[in-house]
Amino acid sequence: MADDDLMLAFAVKPLGVRGRLVRLGAVVDDILHRHDYPPPVSALLAEAVALTAMLGASLKFAGKFILQTKTDGPVDMLVADFAGPGGVRGYARFDRARLNALGPAPRQADLLGKGYLAMTVDQGPDMERYQGIVPLDGSDLAAAAHAYFAQSEQIPTRLRLAAGPLITRGSAAESWRVGAIMVQHLPREGGSSPLPLTPGNAPPGAVEQPAEHDDWVRARLLLDTVEVHEMLDPTVSPEQLLYRLYHEDGVTVYPATPLARHCTCSTATIDAMLRRFPAEDRADMVTDGTITVTCEFCSTVYRFDPAGFDAA
Ligand SMILES: [Zn+2]
Repeated sequence: MADDDLMLAFAVKPLGVRGRLVRLGAVVDDILHRHDYPPPVSALLAEAVALTAMLGASLKFAGKFILQTKTDGPVDMLVADFAGPGGVRGYARFDRARLNALGPAPRQADLLGKGYLAMTVDQGPDMERYQGIVPLDGSDLAAAAHAYFAQSEQIPTRLRLAAGPLITRGSAAESWRVGAIMVQHLPREGGSSPLPLTPGNAPPGAVEQPAEHDDWVRARLLLDTVEVHEMLDPTVSPEQLLYRLYHEDGVTVYPATPLARHCTCSTATIDAMLRRFPAEDRADMVTDGTITVTCEFCSTVYRFDPAGFDAA
């Protein structure tokens, strides 16, 4: 499917809006099938991976973007990262008993519980790491991302996330898909009006915010009309979706960035990691004469002979 596994940047210049769209098919299906997650956890992680790709793929450097949640809900940790130019991966940690207690269709906010969402930009060893943290306080990932943009970038931002399994008729296998789309109002890039402040940005008791710009209200209301099936349906191309939304205003679509599953694990990196442990800690890791390490991201299993470390 040529329209899958990509990030598209776009602009609606007459509205002073720029945006990004992410579509993941085989890539997110591969990430999820490396684990045995119940469907609500798969959906949550898929959205986290798409959000990470959408934010990471827009960075103008070959760095790393890491999204991590730490919360008290049944899914107490999500980690997704993006490595330039187009690598994504992710994993979730969850408690099956607590998850089952939520019933068959839990709300994302109930899966997560309370805690925080951290987003880290890592541009390599010589550059400063930037981290933004927002509370996850009975909110879903999209709401936390909105809070992040209001707090960190102060650019009016609206985004949508949707994930789900695609069941092909006549086939028992389901394949997961996820879509993400965001718009931001940057009128100085495309128009002449000053940058308006977004409501909800100010601390309680602050002076009243100026009204939202009409162009921005139009752009975000149009985004709100996007239906979940449009974000996931492989027969609706990203360009068709953007045209459906913004053809009256004129939408410019830039060349796509292809996305692929990546992982940084290897025999060499895990060997080096094990060598950093004191010998007695390494001895505790031996089971049946072997040290076995499973990569949390891709579930690849690595086996080491403990004698190999003593010889070094
Ligand atoms: Zn791995």
